[in-house]
Amino acid sequence: MGDKSKLKTRALERIHILFSNAAKADQKTANRAVKLARTIQTKFKVRMPEQFRYRFCKHCLTYWNSTTVRIRTRNGKVVFLCRVCKHIRRKPYR
Ligand SMILES: [Zn+2]
Repeated sequence: MGDKSKLKTRALERIHILFSNAAKADQKTANRAVKLARTIQTKFKVRMPEQFRYRFCKHCLTYWNSTTVRIRTRNGKVVFLCRVCKHIRRKPYR
């Protein structure tokens, strides 16, 4: 394992920790965790792990919980409506 992939592994570990903290934190702290996770993701050029990709708004970086996102299914897609910035994201079923 080269240094680069070691750094990426560490980056992904930190992203996991940030999201697990965000799940237990208040909205403001959770939002900060999302922003930090995005910074780490960009810096180390890692892909956002699948399980976290729809945990926040890509537009305003709000952490999504029951009060900040509305989730509906429509035409075989899951539709996420960010209640903060009204940005809509669609996730196809697999
Ligand atoms: Zn948003």
